[in-house]
Amino acid sequence: MYDRRIIKGLVYQDGEFKQTNVYINGEKIALISPEIFEAKQSTDADGLFVAPGIIDAHVHISLHGAGGNLSCDDYRSGSIAAAYGGVTTFIDFLGEAATVAEMRDFFREKMEMTQGALVDYALHASAKELKDSAGEMADQAAAQGTPSIKLYTTYRPSGIYSSPQTVEAFIERSARGDVRIIIHAEDDALINHENKDARNLAQNRPPECEIEEVRKIAEWTRKHQGNSYIVHVNCGETVEMLKKEYSDILHRNLYLESAPQYFVFDESVYKGEDYYRYTITPPLRSAEQRETLRRNWREISVFATDHCPFTLDAKRKAEGNLTVMPMGMGGLEYLFPLMHSFYGSGVIDRLTVNPAKMFGLYPQKGVLAPGSDADIVLYSEGPAVIDKLHSAADDSPYLGLEVNAKVISTMSRGNWVVEDGELKEGSAGKFVFGRL
Ligand SMILES: [Zn+2]
Repeated sequence: MYDRRIIKGLVYQDGEFKQTNVYINGEKIALISPEIFEAKQSTDADGLFVAPGIIDAHVHISLHGAGGNLSCDDYRSGSIAAAYGGVTTFIDFLGEAATVAEMRDFFREKMEMTQGALVDYALHASAKELKDSAGEMADQAAAQGTPSIKLYTTYRPSGIYSSPQTVEAFIERSARGDVRIIIHAEDDALINHENKDARNLAQNRPPECEIEEVRKIAEWTRKHQGNSYIVHVNCGETVEMLKKEYSDILHRNLYLESAPQYFVFDESVYKGEDYYRYTITPPLRSAEQRETLRRNWREISVFATDHCPFTLDAKRKAEGNLTVMPMGMGGLEYLFPLMHSFYGSGVIDRLTVNPAKMFGLYPQKGVLAPGSDADIVLYSEGPAVIDKLHSAADDSPYLGLEVNAKVISTMSRGNWVVEDGELKEGSAGKFVFGRL
């Protein structure tokens, strides 16, 4: 007798769907078998797809943005949005540390903010221009279960910029394989910092910013045989450049992440009256760059959202002034349906097993297999409209868009968090220790 079973669904394993049944004991998957066994609770998934819980590897919870604005979602509202989107693990960021002691403090502070989480979460460490060595920082990040270290090559005024020397030192250290360096890649010297008009965002930060910075990172990664990951790649040309010039390290030492907003929208929205809803960095790109990115989607290992919504009021109040404009948009709830609408089930690995492996959560997360956490999403295929937000944000540029998949139920470690569209209280999200 098993605790739970999900029967008659099309179950995703090893890149394909098979009609079979999933049996669960406690928090873990116990068995996947076409045979029918008894269970205390049974879910009929006839006509539904059964996939591993989605992992959103890039979210910002309660981020302090420009203009004194705090991003809308805390761990509770963020995890409700997550659950409605089939997301059973999201990865948030620690504050940017210059020393080991700071990194430890940021970890402790973050763990005090995670109450109310309904799904699991992992954390990326973050660093800035260093006082301690990259080696000491990497040791600490690995020891505390946050083996990915985020660096920014821009944002000097916010004090989180890392110099080329720091970035290279981290990449060199990452060759040992126990940490991955994840980089927000924009060449700070190529950004127009003088123009403060949000409508000019795309011109202020042209494609060369990304392409040239990624080229430097690829050089250091090749030289040291490091372990690098570029977050939110947004220019198709960046991917083409890497394919042409760095095919020896792409998908070996260097991995790419992108986000749905760069597939859905283009920079023409900055000419619209509601331009402020799309104020994000890096900015949206031309239709041509977007087309090239879409064509190269298979080169992207991980789709993640960069979820960081602010209220419409906070966005409007900035009156187009980049000095006080809170930058970011939400997406956590619609990551899976949006990307599924482009590429069907081809996106599942990029939302599950790939991020799990990339950030040391595999095989606890990212796969439907005996012994893995029972993190499971049930979804249907067919036209659906994005018409609701379960995030604390009052707006999303995705509202009104048509998608081709709908999340029906989401299970986190053996408990339904959303069942047939209803939120279930009673599960508590936990920190997942990452180990590379
Ligand atoms: Zn981000």
